[in-house]
Amino acid sequence: MTLHGGFSGSEAGTGDTGIKALGAQALADVLTELGEPRFRSTQILGWLYRRSAKGYAEMTDLPARLRSELARHLPLFFPKVVERQVSKDGTRKYLVRLIDGVLVETVGLPVGDRLTVCFSTQAGCAMGCRFCATGFSGFQRNLHPGEMVDQLNIVANDFDRRVTGAVAMGQGEPFANYQATLDALRLMNHAHGPQIGARHLTVSTCGILPAISRFAEEPEQFTLAVSLHSAVQSTRDALMPGVRSHALPRLRDALIGYAAQTGRRPSLEYALADGVNDSDAELDALVAFSRDMLVHVNLIPINPVAESNAVRASASRVATFARKLAAAGIEVSVRAERGADIAAACGQLRQRATSGGACTEQITPSAGHVSQSPGS
Ligand code: SAH
Ligand code: SF4
Repeated sequence: MTLHGGFSGSEAGTGDTGIKALGAQALADVLTELGEPRFRSTQILGWLYRRSAKGYAEMTDLPARLRSELARHLPLFFPKVVERQVSKDGTRKYLVRLIDGVLVETVGLPVGDRLTVCFSTQAGCAMGCRFCATGFSGFQRNLHPGEMVDQLNIVANDFDRRVTGAVAMGQGEPFANYQATLDALRLMNHAHGPQIGARHLTVSTCGILPAISRFAEEPEQFTLAVSLHSAVQSTRDALMPGVRSHALPRLRDALIGYAAQTGRRPSLEYALADGVNDSDAELDALVAFSRDMLVHVNLIPINPVAESNAVRASASRVATFARKLAAAGIEVSVRAERGADIAAACGQLRQRATSGGACTEQITPSAGHVSQSPGS
């Protein structure tokens, strides 16, 4: 019985990251290839993504020979939390080390009886948005599907609660890692995984047009958010150089097509920065862009990041934007800021450890428990 090297499981696919590189279908294919019965893949999925197995030895209901075969060819690694920070609003941010030492951040957002996870799809990001800490840190690598799902289980285990929703709004551009992100959403939605309803799984993209159309074709009812940040082409080009080639009228057409195809309302994310995208002309352009289409505008007071001199727009400008959009018949909301005191808010995620603040806990991996940092 041998596993040959042809399985990759995703576009990101490198066999070297082991079983977490495989989506549900790829895992089923590998097990079929090994002559295993059909139920084996759901059994393993349950161990990986419901029970957060740390090794094959835990999978006691699997034949020993299969466990050793899998361990040899598809290493199993559960990411390590190397730092954990708790915001005064209850938000928790985790710095997570992956199999190859790469670091990503994950955020858990408890609201009432809901628990949402903001997960990363890439380590770093190549899009270079001028207001985003991840964009400034550059791109390291794509994450594998299982590495995305593991982030949900890290949060669920820490809160000792079920995760009720997940948003691909951590580090990275999910549509630049399309197949792995889709595989991850399917695992999150899977009956033997965290079982999150498709409507509670959201992808946020900077607006890669072919991927928006492709996403509209997927059978599941996943939710789409698009980072707009300006409906004036020159402003958007300056803010978001990675999508300069995707012109605004084409983005609008893609969103109209998405809504027509799916019957679902996409969100537009608009982070307001003083003197950058909060003028009356910008507001008029945003109204013109958003009217007569099925869309929800989410206004976000921009979060400060060290590398950018963008300053948050005044509360009165945010209110004016909200009022004028509503008056034009456009659905709008202002996003409440979460976790800014631990740099866990949108756009503040990066790949390095903090120096240790009042709420920071350094995790000692060898001891396997949490120790408070000196500042706490
Ligand atoms: N790459 C994807 C998803 C990750 S970014 C995207 O760009 O949509 C998640 C969200 O944070 C996006 O809406 C992004 O535009 C927003 N964001 C980035 N930097 C921000 C900042 N400094 N303040 C507020 N929102 C920010
Ligand atoms: Fe990447 Fe999104 Fe940040 Fe832009 S806003 S750099 S696309 S993570």
